[in-house]
Amino acid sequence: MEKQHRCRRLVLVPCPFQGHMTPMLQLGTILHSRGFYITIAHTQFNFPNPLNFPDFNFLEIYEDVISGFNANCKAPLRESLARMMEKEDQHSKIACIIYDEYISAANMLTYQEIPRLLKDDLWYSTYVGAEAMMLELVPGLEPLRFKDLPITNFRDLDDLPQLIVNAHDSRSYSAIIWNTMDCLEQSSLAHLRQEYQLPLFPIGPLHRTIPAPSISLLKEDQNCISWLDKQSHNSVIYVSVGSIAFLDSKELAEMAWGLANSEHPFLWVVRTDSISLPESFQETVGERGCITKWAPQKQVLAHSAVGGFWSHCGWNSTIESISEGVPMICQPYFGDQRVNSRYLSLVWGVGLEWENDMNRGPIKEAIRMLMVGKEGEVIRQSAKDLKVKIELSMKQAVSSYNSLNELVDQILSF
Ligand code: UDP
Repeated sequence: MEKQHRCRRLVLVPCPFQGHMTPMLQLGTILHSRGFYITIAHTQFNFPNPLNFPDFNFLEIYEDVISGFNANCKAPLRESLARMMEKEDQHSKIACIIYDEYISAANMLTYQEIPRLLKDDLWYSTYVGAEAMMLELVPGLEPLRFKDLPITNFRDLDDLPQLIVNAHDSRSYSAIIWNTMDCLEQSSLAHLRQEYQLPLFPIGPLHRTIPAPSISLLKEDQNCISWLDKQSHNSVIYVSVGSIAFLDSKELAEMAWGLANSEHPFLWVVRTDSISLPESFQETVGERGCITKWAPQKQVLAHSAVGGFWSHCGWNSTIESISEGVPMICQPYFGDQRVNSRYLSLVWGVGLEWENDMNRGPIKEAIRMLMVGKEGEVIRQSAKDLKVKIELSMKQAVSSYNSLNELVDQILSF
């Protein structure tokens, strides 16, 4: 513990969703281990259990976040911070505020480019429904197609979401921290470094830097780990579409039969309260399938029985999977997931892009291809190679390790 930093307090402001809480609390844990006091500003909606983080302070912001997180929380956050600063002594001066917004460097690049696309009228042609255009590559953002862009429903510059406006207003922040690695997103980070005259700190994968307490907003089912313990090496396909996306009842049924017919053991996260699967399904799969409402995902992906991940490609799931060398079937739903899916499959070569309707036949084929098929061999090998690269990037004197030290120095210079 570096006691000399203890007089600096950092206020972290995560968006109140699992996918944002997770990396922000991991970041808090890392920076706390580097000697900073940590305050987590949170809303009444979706906040972590403070008992899991006895060393952190929690600052509640009383606001209705659902109807507009940024707009509604700004004033109460300001007031709460002002109160904190009135009380602050020299042992806990606020050094900086860290808020979360962007996910991967590639995603931020797309936000950079959207105003240009609008100016060139390129976006409008896709908005008015030119289907063929959706499949075209976006100039400057290859291999992304228009349909892969994270935001699709606005027409002109005045209608830009705050996220994009903020991307262009670098006056409001003094550095950017990424849960990514240079070895993964070198070219996107290089573009951003050129664009911004700001320090960028790619310090991922955050969950591998130091162990953090559980950040799950839902109760993790540890029984699935005992079930995994009984399965053979690399045999299990893990299926989860994260904390927000979901399959409708028809898709659930097709997925169930695709899994059953693949003949692979499967661990499947189904968050819906009731899932009614026919008796014939239960008879077919028996002990070969484990269905749960919420799994300890990082543990699952690190388990030697898991050989593949059917994922919606949220950025946390992406990072957690590639850090463990688990190849993926990429079924993105919205936002950044489409960008991540494209990079997983075409740039890093560790994923199979799922672009079909949800039908049991192709689901079974995709699982077999990924897990054991000849066509999946290259993907499986690339996933192993990428894991090695990521592990290297975290070692002393290599990129993520250095970036973290530079980040600490930067905060101390404020
Ligand atoms: N997660 C989990 N158990 C599950 C499903 C998801 O712990 O059964 C965690 C997962 O490890 C990841 C987060 O929930 O850290 C989901 O974040 P991601 O960015 O992948 O997707 P989102 O939920 O934001 O769409």
